[in-house]
Amino acid sequence: MLHSLPKDDNYLHKGLRKQLVQTLREKGIKDERVLAAIETIPRHFFLDPAFERQAYEDRAFPIAAGQTISQPYTVAFQTQLLELKKFDKVLEIGTGSAYQATVLGELGVTLYTIERQKELYDYVGKFFFLKKYPNIRRFYGDGFEGLPSYAPFDKIIITCGAPFVPPKLLAQLKPGGIMVIPVGEDGKQKMLRIIKEPNGNIIEEEMGDFAFVPMLQGRNHK
Ligand code: SAH
Repeated sequence: MLHSLPKDDNYLHKGLRKQLVQTLREKGIKDERVLAAIETIPRHFFLDPAFERQAYEDRAFPIAAGQTISQPYTVAFQTQLLELKKFDKVLEIGTGSAYQATVLGELGVTLYTIERQKELYDYVGKFFFLKKYPNIRRFYGDGFEGLPSYAPFDKIIITCGAPFVPPKLLAQLKPGGIMVIPVGEDGKQKMLRIIKEPNGNIIEEEMGDFAFVPMLQGRNHK
């Protein structure tokens, strides 16, 4: 893939993005800042040039290393649940293509994002578009560990299907913070919104069924 080369973002792409945003509105996304971010970010930059049109369909798509770029609806839904404020300190598990990361970056938060696959981590490092977001910091590591030296975080978003809520991530969430995490096995997860109240109490809300690639233990060096 030609990730290191700048690509064109023309009126056709912009038109397709407007349609995508309309689709997301019809599916129930209401947060205007999230919709504006999706209207701004050229999602076709994240896919092979052969798939420019598919980039603006509301579906997940294969990227490098057997992984996927999340469906725009899922990205919008998870982001909306985070109730982000500018300058929030956010941890993302599963950088993948970095599309979700740029949506968060566009909203003005300080993002720490972790990817366990070396191949994807290196690939995204060559991506010219990320230079637009000095507020995104990328890490190669195991998301089950989080980033203890940068904790605590106002918000935590997990973009792979977790077998359980990782206790170390919950510990790295600030009191008053929100975690959004799909939990379950076999590409069938329940989206959970977990709120840590200021007194440390944990509240869990179920927000519907989703399908993610699995959250796997340890780093992959390939
Ligand atoms: N947010 C991404 C979604 C990519 S798919 C996007 O917008 O494109 C999920 C990603 O989670 C994959 O890249 C996968 O390698 C990564 N992943 C799975 N288990 C992980 C773990 N334990 N730590 C960090 N990343 C993990």
